[in-house]
Amino acid sequence: MSYSQCGVKSRTGLNRNAGPTNWVEGGSGSKVSWTLAGVELDEVWIGDLEVNLALDELDVYVWNLSVDTDDKNGYQHPHVGSEGDICWGDNVIAAVAYHRAGDFFALKDLMDNLLQTYNAHSPYISLDEWVNGVGESCYECGERYSDDDLVWAEDVEGSLCDSCRTYCERCEHYVVYRHYDSSWEACEYYAANYTLECATCSDKFWEDDLTAMPIAWFDQPGSTLPLCYRGSWR
Ligand SMILES: [Zn+2]
Ligand SMILES: [Zn+2]
Ligand SMILES: [Zn+2]
Repeated sequence: MSYSQCGVKSRTGLNRNAGPTNWVEGGSGSKVSWTLAGVELDEVWIGDLEVNLALDELDVYVWNLSVDTDDKNGYQHPHVGSEGDICWGDNVIAAVAYHRAGDFFALKDLMDNLLQTYNAHSPYISLDEWVNGVGESCYECGERYSDDDLVWAEDVEGSLCDSCRTYCERCEHYVVYRHYDSSWEACEYYAANYTLECATCSDKFWEDDLTAMPIAWFDQPGSTLPLCYRGSWR
């Protein structure tokens, strides 16, 4: 028999497709399933739930038939894990007792009630997260993403999603796409710090691509002028 507690947050999510195939028929394999339609918790739409119960083992799997749970870490319901495992909480005692007594209808009632009750103290995800999605929002576009899909960017001091960030090979970090200068293939900061104007043609070049032409000013001996390969001060 297996029961889970919501307090333990599983991050194995996003594999709801693996769900029903995890189903293991044990012993005589008697199991029942039913659909609990139109579940709402505190006026938040949760959806139709398919409840599967293996009578021998008191194994329960609950699948959400209505809602895409990708942005909910795969949780099927605020009190159901990503692998369909229901959080019994304190009700585990009653569940075990009904199960031992073979009182299927009482057990079913208990589960239906459980799935239609929101306990704000111990959900896998809160109703707010259920509605808005878990994770953080991207600093730039404001869309919600799971933490794994966001990358911290120092230039905006915020997390950025894949479509709002560009990797700067020069400094080996991400910047928000609008701080990336594709003509230099570098972030603006790097381009600003490591490019110079050629003293003759006024085009900009990478510092390293310019030649330092020694020039003797009256008051600044040892000065140089940056010159590009086209520069002809000879
Ligand atoms: Zn974004
Ligand atoms: Zn950079
Ligand atoms: Zn030049």
